[in-house]
Amino acid sequence: MQRNLNASTWIILGLSFAVCGMAAAVFVTPSKADRNAAAGNVSRLDPPLRRAFSDGGEFEAKREPGGGDWLAAHDEPGQTFERWVNSNPNIPGAGRTKLYVLPIGEFEKGIAPDLEKLKQYTAAYYHPMPVEMLPVIADEEVPAKERVNGMSAKKQWKSTDILRWLPKKLPADGYAMIAVTMTDLYPDEKWNFVFGQASTKDRVGVFSFARYHPAWTNRPAEAGTEALVLRRAAKVLTHEMGHMFGIRHCIYYECNMNGANHLDEADSTPVHLCPVCLRKLHRAARFDPAERYGKLLEFYEANGMKAEEEWVGKRIEAIKGAR
Ligand SMILES: [Zn+2]
Ligand SMILES: [Zn+2]
Repeated sequence: MQRNLNASTWIILGLSFAVCGMAAAVFVTPSKADRNAAAGNVSRLDPPLRRAFSDGGEFEAKREPGGGDWLAAHDEPGQTFERWVNSNPNIPGAGRTKLYVLPIGEFEKGIAPDLEKLKQYTAAYYHPMPVEMLPVIADEEVPAKERVNGMSAKKQWKSTDILRWLPKKLPADGYAMIAVTMTDLYPDEKWNFVFGQASTKDRVGVFSFARYHPAWTNRPAEAGTEALVLRRAAKVLTHEMGHMFGIRHCIYYECNMNGANHLDEADSTPVHLCPVCLRKLHRAARFDPAERYGKLLEFYEANGMKAEEEWVGKRIEAIKGAR
């Protein structure tokens, strides 16, 4: 969910109709050899790390896109582990070690995802980096231009105004901060909406969960809606935090760092990081992979995410060499 805006470092995430008129890209699923090469040479690593950054059969190669999907419209060059290292990415340090989440505006119970759970999930995902949820900023204190969208008849905030303000709100010990809101966003007058926008240079971003609940289109909640809203919000938050470490969209595996053009496509990508993206995050955040998966396992168990719980359990066994 990334696109250059005015050739600046700002990126726009999740588009409503932006694929129209863009040249179609041709994407071919990378071979096993290409996927292994993208994760870099692992032969000199300790066995548990070597296994953590290798595909033991738990991962799926990136599928070829359908017509409206991200890779059908965007020529993504891919970012191997080596290319990421050579890009001299931002990494935590020099007193900037915490990840912050800043809720802005109202979070209506039953419609909004549970903020405490989002914090717990982000903390497991980015273990051992500390994650803090900042106090909610009231609606009227958000310094953004407002409009009512002609199609939805709902209030929107101008995301670029929020992005200009966010660096001032980033605490001195903050490595990165993502603002989250239930108010819909738009980047400029010509656009219908955006799901979010970020500045990787300033390591801040803003994302709206407004369209994640069926209430957006006046449909009632069903069994499973709360879990779906949490899964969507958790994925977008961890995906965007990934960009804050200079990790670009993944084209090697089905992965949380895949670009997504629409909600169905975003729903179809897994919550986990592939070996290539995991190795980048490991270099930036320095964790024990089995320990990190253990934290995620606890979250999946506590929140009834059965498929994820099983997957992560298999990965822990694979890293420990138990299989
Ligand atoms: Zn993205
Ligand atoms: Zn990946």
